[in-house]
Order: sequence, then C-alpha cells, then structure tokens
Amino acid sequence: MAYCQYCGRKTDEDALFCHWCGEGLVEEDTGWQEAQIREAVDEANRRANGHTILAIVLVTTGLAAGGILCVSSDPIGLFGIVLVCLGVALAAAARRHERKASNLRKLLRP
Ligand SMILES: [Zn+2]
Repeated sequence: MAYCQYCGRKTDEDALFCHWCGEGLVEEDTGWQEAQIREAVDEANRRANGHTILAIVLVTTGLAAGGILCVSSDPIGLFGIVLVCLGVALAAAARRHERKASNLRKLLRP
C-alpha cells in the first residue's frame, strides 16, 4: 500500500499524483513514511506505559480501599470496587496500545 508523502492518505501504488492533494508521487520518500510509523509506535508505547502505570495504581488503591471495607465496613470500599474496575479497563486499553505498537512495528520490516 502506498501513502502520499504530503497529506499521508492512501494512494494508488502506480499513481503519479495524489488524488487527494494533487502532489506528485514520483519521488519515493520511504524515510518520511518510516519516520511517521516510528512516531506512531513511540506514541502507542507511551500510551501503553501510561495506562499500565495508572491501572496498577488504581487496582492497588482499589484493593486497599476494599480491604479497609472488610475490616471497618466503611463505604469507601465501594470506591475500591470502582477503582479496580477502572484499573482493569485501563489495563485492557494498555494492551490495545501495545498491540497497535507491535502491528506498526511490523510495517517497518516488511
Ligand atoms: Zn496527498
């Protein structure tokens, strides 16, 4: 699949001009595309790491709050359950970003 180096949109492999922005596609600039992909990989990795850290914090806090509920039957334990749920959702989001990063990395080594 070919991408326009000017607007980044999909173009026909054999097209001489981008039908989106009209720029010439004769000169292949694979370095530009690689840089774009690397940037996307970095971004996905950053998000995955951020989500993972937040997930750990939320689950840990949630479990601690849930533990407090067990010993004192305080309503703070309900927040614990909510925090654990949020943490699990964030962990799933982090895995999605990791998958995106690994898929993008495959593009760099065709
Ligand atoms: Zn274009």
